[in-house]
Amino acid sequence: MLRRAPSRLVLVAALAVACFLPGSVASAVQGTRYHEGVSGTAGVVATESPAAARVGRAVLARGGNAIDAAVATVFALGVARPQSCGIGGGGFMVYRSPDGKVRALDFRETAPAAIKADTFAGPGLHKTFTGHLTVGVPGTLAGMASALDRFGTLSLRDALAPAAKIANDGFRVPTSLSGAMARRAKDIALFPATAAQYLKNGAPYAPGDLLVQPDLAKSLRLIQDKGISALYGGELARAIVRDMRAPRPETKDAGLLTVKDFAAYKPLWRTALHTTYRGRDVYAAPPATSGGQTMIEMLNILEGFDLKAMGAGSAQAVTAISEAQKIAWADRGAYLADPAFVAQPIAQLVSKDYAAQRRAEIDLTRAKTYAPGVFPSGAAVARRAGEDFNEHGSTTHVSVIDAKGGAVAVTCTIEQEFGSTVIAPGTGFLLNNELTDFSGPGTANQPVPGKRPRSSINPTIVVQGKAPVLVAGAAGGSTIIMGPTLAVIDTIDFGMTLPQAVDAERFDDQGTNKLTIEDTRFSPDVLNALTTTGYTLSKSGEYGPVPRMQLAGLAPGPSGLATAVSDSRSDRGSLAVPTSAPPK
Ligand code: GLU
Repeated sequence: MLRRAPSRLVLVAALAVACFLPGSVASAVQGTRYHEGVSGTAGVVATESPAAARVGRAVLARGGNAIDAAVATVFALGVARPQSCGIGGGGFMVYRSPDGKVRALDFRETAPAAIKADTFAGPGLHKTFTGHLTVGVPGTLAGMASALDRFGTLSLRDALAPAAKIANDGFRVPTSLSGAMARRAKDIALFPATAAQYLKNGAPYAPGDLLVQPDLAKSLRLIQDKGISALYGGELARAIVRDMRAPRPETKDAGLLTVKDFAAYKPLWRTALHTTYRGRDVYAAPPATSGGQTMIEMLNILEGFDLKAMGAGSAQAVTAISEAQKIAWADRGAYLADPAFVAQPIAQLVSKDYAAQRRAEIDLTRAKTYAPGVFPSGAAVARRAGEDFNEHGSTTHVSVIDAKGGAVAVTCTIEQEFGSTVIAPGTGFLLNNELTDFSGPGTANQPVPGKRPRSSINPTIVVQGKAPVLVAGAAGGSTIIMGPTLAVIDTIDFGMTLPQAVDAERFDDQGTNKLTIEDTRFSPDVLNALTTTGYTLSKSGEYGPVPRMQLAGLAPGPSGLATAVSDSRSDRGSLAVPTSAPPK
């Protein structure tokens, strides 16, 4: 298929980005929803909500830095994309300052003190990702406040103001939100405060309806006045805990959280995981997410294959990537968990030596299954793999670059669409169902009081020279990991521009030779070759629903031109500040 002619501005951006990458322009088939993204020299923001992107752009245009813009955008997403994130949820961030320092922030939810290894073993609402038992202590508010304190210039009050205004004034419901309401209407209807906020006479809002969230506006204003203690031990925690204990004879649904659990919550700054990939620096988030380890292990294995010579969209390249994925996935399942509770061989798993050993197991003519690695010391014995409960999920990602080259990749979640579907009466924000990300008893990822459930979230920053050339992240449950991984490969190995990479075909094999693949991008010959190699293809057409990715990147060199591009698999919310304006 021929590519559409790009506009002049994008051509400049594409050249600026493409010319420093090796290889020719990619040969894979471009999708019908291909679009060019936006570019500017005074900052860009990529989201999957136009309303939230406007908030981020306004912060950048006033001279705010990447942290300011990312935090204000995350708060706005909690209002304008409430099915995916909010102050009732958690997530992970990777930040790179303009002078090149990289930090990772873990604001994952934590388990209540009363949780047990078998809390989720029996039947109950939690089996449908719903209800009070699934709720972990939320981390987003504490995490965003900590990011502002440490690296921002905005006050928490100012960062919350646009979100409070959208909640108070309302916004037009996008098709995506209306669809999510319809998909979870039955669970939303179980809880009167949630039904009152997200159903209209018991039915989903139609696209274009005005959604006003007065309780949410009130809670955001309370936090503006009282600070984060309003949630972490204060009035909002008390309202949530009251609701956890309320009798519900029809569902027998009760939660475990206490005010003490809220008061004990701490976001954690961690050292980002790092590898080099074909001369670039790749930074990613460490556990409690599995995203960084799994991606880096894959990239280290793949560095030993000449993917460029194999070609984008070739059966050989898809096979090499999928075999590497299954190896990394076996290690993820066996070892990855909250590091405060479980020793795990992260340094070995992300090492080049280990990658070389595992690479030798790959036979490009035969799809195989792989055991986790066994290590001589520490977390020596491979554990039973912890499985994920779901493949789809919700979540949303924000990528930001500011006028000075500061970069943020931040992914926030309430787990499933609409999380637990619980809103404590009067509070106006959805509570996560993140505790369903724990695995069964006996696994590294079993539930323990105070522990963070293992995530797949994978915020990623790739640096070439001094420029964050790729700032990536995705939504979509355990499919998240392959989003940024493919973006790294597509840009570096296959020479794609950011708009090409976000559009490019996705595939994912989590260990069983079931290869989920956007099949109509591939020739029948390639699909036949993959079947002959031993994969069972799960075909998702031209664009599957997940992973949904947001990319940004700064061209190296003096142009200072940044590009942002949103995934056409979802709502596109990317905006740029074209040129530096004096701060107002
Ligand atoms: N809870 C998932 C995770 O942290 C992400 C939510 C989803 O998209 O399913 O990995």
